This record gives sequence, C-alpha cells and structure tokens, in this order.
Amino acid sequence: MRTGNPALFIPGPTNLPNRLRQAMDLPTEDHRAPDFPVLTLGLFKDLKRVFRLDGGHVFIFPGSGTGGWEAAISNTLSPGDSVLASVFGQFSHLWVDLCQRHRLNVEVIDTEWGEGAPVERYAAALAADTSHRIKAVLVCHNETATGVTSDVAAIRQALDAVGHPALLMVDGVSSVASIDFRMTDWGVDLCVSGSQNGFMLPAGLSIVAASDKALAAIAAATCPRGYFDFTMMLSANKDGYFPYTPAATLLRGLRASIDMLFEEGLENVFARHHRLAEGVRRAVVEGWGLQLCAKDRKWYSDTVSAIRTPTGYDAGEVVKIAYGRYGLSLGGGLGKVAGKVFRIGHLGWLNELMLIQAIAGAEMAMRDLGIPVAAGAGVAAAEEHFRHTAQPAVLASDHAIAR
Ligand code: PLP
Repeated sequence: MRTGNPALFIPGPTNLPNRLRQAMDLPTEDHRAPDFPVLTLGLFKDLKRVFRLDGGHVFIFPGSGTGGWEAAISNTLSPGDSVLASVFGQFSHLWVDLCQRHRLNVEVIDTEWGEGAPVERYAAALAADTSHRIKAVLVCHNETATGVTSDVAAIRQALDAVGHPALLMVDGVSSVASIDFRMTDWGVDLCVSGSQNGFMLPAGLSIVAASDKALAAIAAATCPRGYFDFTMMLSANKDGYFPYTPAATLLRGLRASIDMLFEEGLENVFARHHRLAEGVRRAVVEGWGLQLCAKDRKWYSDTVSAIRTPTGYDAGEVVKIAYGRYGLSLGGGLGKVAGKVFRIGHLGWLNELMLIQAIAGAEMAMRDLGIPVAAGAGVAAAEEHFRHTAQPAVLASDHAIAR
C-alpha cells in the first residue's frame, strides 16, 4: 500500500484544493429551489470576469471540454460551412475531427507538432477568402499535447487586417484561469473551457464563453443540437436556472474556485504559473540537458511541459515507471508524439515544493530506464530558480477553510 498524498502532475484534471473539496461536501440540493439563483446568477456574472468578457454569456453545461467544442460549433455554424483551423497537436486535431463529424468543411493548416498556431498562414488564408466563405476561425490557445501556447491576439489582428467577419473560436481548456486570456480585448467570440484545469475542480463542467456576436449567430445556425443548445440554456439561465439537471455540487465548487482565483488575483495566478513553469523548464534544459517539444521560447506553455526523451528511449516507459514505482502521475505522449514525449502538468493548485516532487520523480524514472541524466540535476536547476524568485510565503487562500 502506498502511503501519503498521490503525486498528480497530469495536465488536467489538476490537484483539488482542500477548500474546494470542502465546498462540495454538501447534502444534495434542490436545483429548482427559489434561492438557487443566488448561486447561479453570481456565477454567470463572475465567470465573465475570469474570461475577461464584456457582454455575451458564459454557459455552464454538465460535460467536459469536448462537449464545449461541440456546443461552440453546433450553436453558431451550419453543415457545409467552411472553418479554418490549424492542427499542431492531439487536441487541435480532435477539434477538427469533431467539426468534420458535424459536416463542416474544415480548411486545415497542418503545422509541425511543437510549433504554435501559424499566424502568417492564417493571415494568408483569410486574405485569400475575399468572398468570406470561412465562417469561423479555430485556434487552440494552449495545445496540451505538446506544451505550446499560441498567440490568439495575433490571429484576431489577422482577421481585422482584412476586415474578415468570421467568428474567432478558441480552445482554452488548459489556459483559462492559468494563462493570460482576454476574450473581449482579443475579439474572441467563443472560448471553450472545463472545470478540471485552471478551475482546479474535478471534471464535469463544460464552460463556454460566448460574445454578443456569437450569440447573434445562433439564429442562422442549423447544425443539429439538443443537449448543448444555447437558446434553451439562455432562456433558463436568465432566471438562474437550467433546462435540465445541473451539476449543482460542482457549481458550489465553482463558486469557491472563482473566489480563490479572485482572492489570489488573476494576474498573480498567471505570474505563479509562469514562475513554476520556468522552474520545470530549467530542470529539463539546464538540469537534464533534454529538449522540450515546444520549438521556440515564444511558444513555451506555462501550464504543461512536454519533454522529449533521447532517441532510443520510450517516453511511455518513463510514465509507467514513474507511476508504478513512485506513485507519480505524469502525462504520456499523445498521437504523433506518443512514445517521444512525457508531460509534466504544472497548472492549478500548485507550489514549487510540489513541483520539485514531480521533477525528482521524473528524474528517478528516467534514470531507472537508463536515460543518462545525473541524479538531482533537474531538481538542482529548478531549486535555484525557485530560490532566486521566491516570494514571502503568504498562506494561500486554501488555508482559509480553517474558519
Ligand atoms: N482541449 C484541450 C486543449 C485539452 O487539453 C483537452 C483535454 O485534455 C480537451 C480539449 C478535451 O477536454 P475533455 O477531455 O475535458 O473533454
């Protein structure tokens, strides 16, 4: 039997803060009670602050990120519509696949895995589309499979540069509430997220933010939709209710999650993620002498690092050994990079000493497999970064539950 806390460093679901766990330790409640909207109307309002959205609406469906993708496209597009998307990892690939299954005509910009969304190629495709055949432009803000963050604002500029009216849809599953994301400033029309990453909750909620422009597109959109219907949701949400049974316990958790994010301050949340990510990158590059899957610093993700194992060493074995011998959960390589990378998730409720544990465990597993990394090298590099960037230890809001 393994004692102690499990070491969970997959890039979602993330670690569950005690405060959120306790906020959800409740008797079942009546989601049609007259006072239920006290909870829900506050959530709709405050989620807009998290997404930095003016106007529009943030939908909360029982579901996961995949359901959010489906909600975004099926409510605003019609079969046969053209959409422009780039594929540079497993999740950008899966969103395209879902679009194709909805009979959308996807113009795919195939991009090397490890690179971010190719802004110039989006710009060229948009400039060539003078008849405005393209109805939506899709971008994966943070590709969790490769640890790459893309420049969403630059894609908006590419649209604006040629006055293109397409909707801008963003996958923010592993970025929202962890990496800077600004829906209104960046002119994003739909952003898909979920409860299990930056919101630090268990999986179970699809959280989809929609701009006024996206809401205006619903009327003409003929993709079949039922469970994820925005119109049905809007009509119930305006009074604080849902058209079917909501995941009320997770909504209580979401309330506590948003409170924690606001208490820390979103800017501080982003800065914390950056500092922790930088420690992992020091371990990988300076300590182990290995390479990240992300090919350029400008694409480095502050929520997940995908680490290439040297040729001849199966990254999947690192993940297996880490879990089997040390109880450490790392992310495996997905799709084209299966066996070539393992991933350390560094998002959500986390601090530097927790991360040192992941770096130490990954290092032990790599050494067990025979990968030539020196004992303690990654830990030492990360330690130095964390020591030099240390802030006074303020007890984080998770401790507030003692009240
Ligand atoms: N998009 C990204 C970037 C993801 O990382 C994931 C899952 O990890 C998804 C979409 C799919 O979300 P889910 O597995 O919650 O359906």
